[in-house]
Amino acid sequence: MKFSVVTSNVHKAREIAAFFKGVAEVDHISLDCPESRDDDIGVIARKKAEYAYAALGMPLMTDDTAFSIGALRGFPGPYAAYVHRTIGNPGILRLLEGKLDRRAYFETAVAFASEEGIRVFRGRIEGRVVSPRGSDGFGYDPIFEWEGRTLAELSLDEKSRISHRARALSLLKAWLETRDFQVRQLRE
Ligand code: IMP
Repeated sequence: MKFSVVTSNVHKAREIAAFFKGVAEVDHISLDCPESRDDDIGVIARKKAEYAYAALGMPLMTDDTAFSIGALRGFPGPYAAYVHRTIGNPGILRLLEGKLDRRAYFETAVAFASEEGIRVFRGRIEGRVVSPRGSDGFGYDPIFEWEGRTLAELSLDEKSRISHRARALSLLKAWLETRDFQVRQLRE
């Protein structure tokens, strides 16, 4: 099984390659797909995949991720990239000062494009926002605690087995397994 991961985010590409290690050959193509604005990350991932498939014409996947904080009514959600670039983790922690409810979740939508069209798979993990800990991972990982550790305290291999992204990728993998023959055929 062979396909490309199209993302300009090297951390996502590494996690996806780690997830598929030994199962599928995954090339990283660093193409910056225009990101449409939508409240649904599934729609955003799908549009990135449409763009990339039109440009590259081979089986590929894209990823879009939301970070939603309960006490902030889901903010930043699908606007997580903009918020991370602007106020960053310190800004998020400031917005939560004095708030006891620290629940948050990550949700990833991966879109897989091939001759068969585009399929979207989602995965989510629930945790809570804490003061930053750990030096691995990227983005909001240091301030997101899951089962006692922040995602930045997990190794790449651990995170790529348990994360929101891993959960979406497990569904993609199960679907690809039913399509293995066709996927290989597309590459021949
Ligand atoms: P996007 O999916 O590229 O739009 O990313 C949304 C924002 O969430 C960016 O600021 C990323 O750095 C961040 N992000 C995406 N995936 C993760 C993750 O697995 N852990 C922590 N932050 C993430």
